[in-house]
Amino acid sequence: MEAENSGRELAAGDRFYSHNKLRTGVVGDLLGEGGQGSVYKSEFGGGTYALKWYHPYYVEIDGTLMERLRRAIARGAPDDRFLWPLELVEHPARTDSFGYVMGLRPDEFRSIRELLAPPPNRIELSLEKRLFVCQQIADSFLSLHAKGFCYQDINFGNFFVHPTSGRVLICDNDNVNVDGSEASVYGTRKFMAPEIVRRETTPNGRTDLYSMAVLFFYILIGWHPLDGKKEAEANLLTEQLEHELYGTAPLFLFDENDTSNGPVSPMHDMLVCRWRSLPEKLRSLFLRAFGIGLNNPNKRVIEKEWLKTMDGFQRATFACSDCRYEHIYDHVQGRSAGECVYCSTALAPPPMLLIGTKYIALGEGAVVTLADFGHANAPRWESMAIVVEHPQKPGVFGLKNTTQEPWRVRPPGGQETMVSPGKTVLLADGLRIEAGANQATVVAPDAISSLKAGSGNEARCD
Ligand SMILES: [Zn+2]
Repeated sequence: MEAENSGRELAAGDRFYSHNKLRTGVVGDLLGEGGQGSVYKSEFGGGTYALKWYHPYYVEIDGTLMERLRRAIARGAPDDRFLWPLELVEHPARTDSFGYVMGLRPDEFRSIRELLAPPPNRIELSLEKRLFVCQQIADSFLSLHAKGFCYQDINFGNFFVHPTSGRVLICDNDNVNVDGSEASVYGTRKFMAPEIVRRETTPNGRTDLYSMAVLFFYILIGWHPLDGKKEAEANLLTEQLEHELYGTAPLFLFDENDTSNGPVSPMHDMLVCRWRSLPEKLRSLFLRAFGIGLNNPNKRVIEKEWLKTMDGFQRATFACSDCRYEHIYDHVQGRSAGECVYCSTALAPPPMLLIGTKYIALGEGAVVTLADFGHANAPRWESMAIVVEHPQKPGVFGLKNTTQEPWRVRPPGGQETMVSPGKTVLLADGLRIEAGANQATVVAPDAISSLKAGSGNEARCD
């Protein structure tokens, strides 16, 4: 979004007003500038906000801008991850343009692009957190599309991520439009659906789904899904070749039927590792998004499918005991029998807690929260249980009850017993746990030998 005409257009201390003149604001520091306008920190109506002020030439060329913003403000933000336009504002001396105020992005949030940056600038997020990032984006786009909007221009510039929690904020919502209406932008190269690259259509809800899948592939694999052998072997990426790769002849890097654009060794070896470390269900969504979904917009993966699949795996990540490469426990394939995709050491996933269709890795120190049991409003940090090592028996782990109520537990083939608050139950394959209305089962993959799981009445280890 670099622009030739960019620069500070409003001075610090300038006053601006809401369109109805009821609220006044004062311009503060310049936060950023781009092709459409500049963003300033500002005081407005008693609070601190961000003010986006458009370049006059942009107002002139974007004929539907005011109408889009009015509608977005009237309908309100789809959810609180969107830094949504709140109110249109004007400046008494700058009648050739206008702006809007929106929530201020906290300083610690960084561009999602930095997930792919070379070290030391890279945001190092675990696989679990990267799945969490994707889930939040899918959830927010589900809300956006349910409101009848389409985003139109999904790209790296619109998403910000908290470098430790993985929380997401979505910016640049002034391109958001009513789905099906005339678009003001085509989108950003490499995120555009093939039918937009071919100029057969303009952005809509279905092209958003394609762009979202590209973003997820970048977040999880760190690469563009259509950049394979053809791109690697090209001496020069001409406009004609780009048109072919992303528009007229797009082909997925991991297409199972046509490998003519497949990975090239050693250049793509790390991508192959990342791809193989994902469970088959998740890979099958990408295979559809970038298989039949490339040319058939109605076959694209919808938000709910991403959400359901990622929810099942998000907490099921574990590291290779030798090289620490992260994997996801694949209950369908039985990952316990597999090898590390990076160093070929036999994998030994920790036991898993199965809640409904969701697996939670019970590695040492893992915390199970109320939110894991699907209580939508439960804080993610409210602990229900924590995995602890037996004080006298190293290598033996149990689940400690961190709630205020006793649990009912039944080891496989054993008697039901109670586990009081603060006490621990030994992890054993098939152990049933009931905590109030919440139920879960411990699943211990075959290869786990270090657990020395007990049985019967010996299940308690406190
Ligand atoms: Zn390894």
